[in-house]
Amino acid sequence: MAQGTSREIGPVVLLGPPGAGKGTQSKRIMEKYLVPQVSTGDLLRYNVAQGTELGMAAKAVMARGELVSDDLVCEMVRQRLSQPDCGRGYILDGFPRTAAQAGWLDALLDDKLFDNSRPTRAWPIVIRLDVDYNQLLLRITGRRSCPTCGRIYNVHFQLPSLDEVCDVDGQKLITRNDDRLEVIQPRLKAYQEQTAPVADYYQRTGRLIAVNGDQPVDEVTKQIFKILEDRQS
Ligand code: AMP
Repeated sequence: MAQGTSREIGPVVLLGPPGAGKGTQSKRIMEKYLVPQVSTGDLLRYNVAQGTELGMAAKAVMARGELVSDDLVCEMVRQRLSQPDCGRGYILDGFPRTAAQAGWLDALLDDKLFDNSRPTRAWPIVIRLDVDYNQLLLRITGRRSCPTCGRIYNVHFQLPSLDEVCDVDGQKLITRNDDRLEVIQPRLKAYQEQTAPVADYYQRTGRLIAVNGDQPVDEVTKQIFKILEDRQS
């Protein structure tokens, strides 16, 4: 991976159904532009693992593949974005996922707390990864991730060098609880019913850029980097 650059890229929103490659692409943007990935799914899973109040409220909802309430998720995001490492930009992965969350994010970015002269105050650049339905199913059922560094592998397309072990830190890879076949259907349904309208909202306001997520992963990354570079120039 090329060395990172500390140029400001402002807020980036990655939209797309589960398995579209948001996590993988977020990590690549993070490595290149040295801005944090703010994954609401990862934050919620962390809270579930830690047994926090938020985690306890979210656990059963997540296990059913449904969406956690807007209030809980927005408050979690507000706290995360107020941390100093988000000052030069951040990648929102898995948020906003409902029309209410998208409206909330616009209002937050309008808030006086954000310095008007900085790109992080700009409207987010919104990239949607479009992937064929059958491809999504293969990606989700084959997904394995490292519990320590979050690196993502796939038993169909992207195997680690050693069976079931992370290349980076040697941890045993895990299958996410909600990547089980019976939970995938409700997750995809939640995407169609609640998140697809978010993409429509950004499209109407001229902020949506669609990328063909069926292409090889490096090609998708190349196109995303170009979108981010074009915005800076
Ligand atoms: P993900 O890792 O993004 O697929 O998210 C895993 C699960 O966390 C989802 O199926 C939801 O239950 C929950 N979740 C993640 N992000 C959100 C969000 N923005 N709003 C509501 N629920 C969310």
